[in-house]
Amino acid sequence: MKITIKSPREIEIMREGGKILNSVLESIAKEAQVGVSTMELDQKAEQLILAAGAFPSFKGYEGFPAVLCTSLNEEVVHGIPSKRVLQSGDLLSLDCGVFYQGLHTDKALTLVVGESNPLKDRLMQVTRKSLELAASELKDGVKLGQVSHAIQRHVEQAGFGVVRDLVGHGIGKELHEDPPVPNFGGAGNGPILKAGMTIAIEPMVTVGNYNVIIDGWKIVTADNSLSAHFENTFLITKDGCEVLT
Ligand code: MG
Ligand code: MG
Repeated sequence: MKITIKSPREIEIMREGGKILNSVLESIAKEAQVGVSTMELDQKAEQLILAAGAFPSFKGYEGFPAVLCTSLNEEVVHGIPSKRVLQSGDLLSLDCGVFYQGLHTDKALTLVVGESNPLKDRLMQVTRKSLELAASELKDGVKLGQVSHAIQRHVEQAGFGVVRDLVGHGIGKELHEDPPVPNFGGAGNGPILKAGMTIAIEPMVTVGNYNVIIDGWKIVTADNSLSAHFENTFLITKDGCEVLT
């Protein structure tokens, strides 16, 4: 495993790229209203990224055909934008990557279109909180397993499932770098994190069982239960972390 340490210059670029990505996703989240198709969201995201002087990281990545991943309801991640029009109650995960001056950043969030319900609200809240808890573990010298373990503990205490088959990742010149960042596992596992490493942490949480069915880009929960996904790109620092997205 080769985990890259970013230079101050690279970190500055990722900070800028992360700002672009954050503002793009914020705009797209506002556009995600009843009656809008996920393809329209994708086109809008592409316009915004290009206008900011950046490029979409996902388009063409291993053949992925779009700028955004739009994953609805029982879809976990990697949903391909389509003519499917958003309906009230849809649980929508928006995942996007930005390539700016040679470096990637990656972020995802989940929202409910139109009217939500208590279960969907709780699923999103638990997933978001598990990402916050993971971030609070990040620091130079900490084992990656502590981060993974913090996510799993919170999610399972809430009675939800944490997906095993898909994980977070290091990020930088490549969209997916070492190390893999699982959302489960023992606190003593994994490599030691060092200041200057950049990783994308992305818990994928299910209302039911954590098993998923993977069929090409299509990834759904095996029991058809709802799934939420939040992700940020982090810089590990001496005393903690910095959220780059
Ligand atoms: Mg992502
Ligand atoms: Mg990612």
